[in-house]
Amino acid sequence: MSHELGKIRNIGIAAHIDAGKTTVTERVIFYTGRSHRMGDVDDGTTVTDFDADEQKRGITIYSAAVTCPWKDYSINLIDTPGHVDFTAEVERCLRVLDGVVSVFDAKEGVEAQSETVWRQADKYRVPRLILINKMDKLGADFAMAFQSLRDRLAADPVAVQIPIGASDTFEGLIDLMEMKAVYFEPDRQGAKITVKDIPEEYSGHAQEWRYQLEETIAETCDTLLEKYIHGETLTTEELKAALRKATIANRLQPTFCGSALKFIGVQRLLDGVIDYLPSPADVPPVEGTDPADAEKKLTRTVESGQPFSGLVFKVVADKPMDLYFIRIYSGELKTSSRVLNTHSNQKENVSRVIQIFGKRREQLQVAQAGDIVAVMGLKNTLTGDTLCDPKHPVVLERIEFPETVISMAIEPKTLADRDKLGMALGMLSRQDPTFQTRVDSETGETLIAGMGELHLEVLVDRLRRDMNVEVTVGTPRVSYRETVTTRGEAEGKFVRQSGGRGQFAVVELAVEPIDLTETEGHLVIENKVRDGNISRQYISAVEKGVREACNAGAVAGYPVIDVKVTILDGKEHEVDSSELAFEHAGRLAFELAMKKAKPQLLEPIMKVEVGVPENFYGAVSSDLASRRAIITDMEVNGDRRVLKAQVPLANMFGYSTIVRSLTQGRASWSMEPSHYMPAPSDVAAAVIEV
Ligand code: GDP
Repeated sequence: MSHELGKIRNIGIAAHIDAGKTTVTERVIFYTGRSHRMGDVDDGTTVTDFDADEQKRGITIYSAAVTCPWKDYSINLIDTPGHVDFTAEVERCLRVLDGVVSVFDAKEGVEAQSETVWRQADKYRVPRLILINKMDKLGADFAMAFQSLRDRLAADPVAVQIPIGASDTFEGLIDLMEMKAVYFEPDRQGAKITVKDIPEEYSGHAQEWRYQLEETIAETCDTLLEKYIHGETLTTEELKAALRKATIANRLQPTFCGSALKFIGVQRLLDGVIDYLPSPADVPPVEGTDPADAEKKLTRTVESGQPFSGLVFKVVADKPMDLYFIRIYSGELKTSSRVLNTHSNQKENVSRVIQIFGKRREQLQVAQAGDIVAVMGLKNTLTGDTLCDPKHPVVLERIEFPETVISMAIEPKTLADRDKLGMALGMLSRQDPTFQTRVDSETGETLIAGMGELHLEVLVDRLRRDMNVEVTVGTPRVSYRETVTTRGEAEGKFVRQSGGRGQFAVVELAVEPIDLTETEGHLVIENKVRDGNISRQYISAVEKGVREACNAGAVAGYPVIDVKVTILDGKEHEVDSSELAFEHAGRLAFELAMKKAKPQLLEPIMKVEVGVPENFYGAVSSDLASRRAIITDMEVNGDRRVLKAQVPLANMFGYSTIVRSLTQGRASWSMEPSHYMPAPSDVAAAVIEV
């Protein structure tokens, strides 16, 4: 293995659920020589799927980074989740990758959600290879799947291979660069590869695809185009070099085919990763800002001698210490060193730096720019934080996490479970920044909150299976928010003076809507108390009370957002006042002022995209209209239409099932939180009544 930058590939595999991502990953780990035995998804023993819930569902939700040595290169494979509810996690992973292998099912072509993942990769301008997998499956059709890439994704695929046979006659590939037939010996799990001449009956067909390959590549490169037009022969080296350039520039996507299940094509795909996807040296330097001055831009490059910087993209709870996966963007990271977390502004100890090979780990003394490694020993670091050289602080672009939109009550079944629950929930929220947990101050219930129905379902499964905590859960509820529409003032008094040491605190404050164009954040507190009527330590107590009341909600028990609180005046007593009394008074004053400030219930609005074949468009759009959707855009994409809409989350429960039955399973759709809007009065009335 090498630390030469040009010999590193940081890649992810992106796919629709069931396209074969787990199987491909398993094969990659096997062929790269580090896996002791071959696992199969169907019997739940694969190397990347550590979690029981994933094995049960057969979907990969938690990504793990695995290092795969191939030839003298290092391929770091980051497994990206494929489900719509996990878009935040997919985006986070895409940020730290240099390239992606997109896997498609040869029978289905481009299907549900692969469009979403494709568009996310477009957003981050990630170069891609395409694998048309499952060529052995009944109904597999390479040409159809290839065409669907153009029609549905507006992709620019260029076939570098074509299949020999299809479904039960699928036996190998024709390599269009070498113009050779390639066979993989099934008895030896494809480990033995035989290269032969192209079978006679395929030669015409292969030649047609070869012309297409030459033409498509030549169009991206003036020198090649010149030669091509003049009928000169283009060499394999020239074609490969131009294709690498065009792939890195996001102009073309080299397209492979195979069957991960039948051990056909995976090694050639790995060669493709090396031939066509960028190394860390091929991508632009990372941009960041100075923590002391957010306006000041800083750049970190992979060249040697740069100060260390890296981004934490995943935290995995582990024993004895959690693993923090980071992408190193510049400099070196050494075992037993100290780094600065510029988000928490705390120094952290790096006690170990490791690389993961399937189930095996290897300790490193030092990791370099371009590497993806796991770090142990950190204490105050979360996903999305920047770690850097304390002498050269930098904040790499922060990963934004949306607010949670859905919650449900969770209860331990027994006393023993109660003890375990708190710890287990803490661990889950450290791993997953889009998952939150809190105790409802009124009902005393523990609530868990996340990004969607499946998200919470998976987390509850993890509690039960991995952490052995028995719980019962309530039905999922929309996470509303509260705000105010005007200014309201009130006085909060907490006075108990009936002999002995009493309690005394009086607070007057105002609540009003925040000007969102001027301020960021959901709550601003200003102190305008005259002449020290309340001493400083009691002001902090008032603020604490206000913050708590704000989280607990004043009208319907939902957190209050986008308000400004001004502490106007108050009274204290020499003997009877205490911090506790001021906390109470602050809370009380806030609740009373909220009621006077015409409170309003806000509901989460989701950004929804549904792609459907033309003939289902009517059914889907009228169904969406009945869900209070505002259709914001409609695109025609080949024979499909893509509807973009904003829909209240309250009307989207169970939509997966509904859209499936409306479209005979032909829709692809995605949903993510967009913003909060005032809830209509009937909705607000129903919520507040509860
Ligand atoms: P993932 O959801 O994308 O991770 O997909 P999996 O790797 O879990 O595969 C989903 C199902 O498709 C499993 O039953 C696999 O055995 C099967 N599968 C994966 N690759 C192939 C393939 O190349 N051919 C066929 N016929 N089935 C495959």
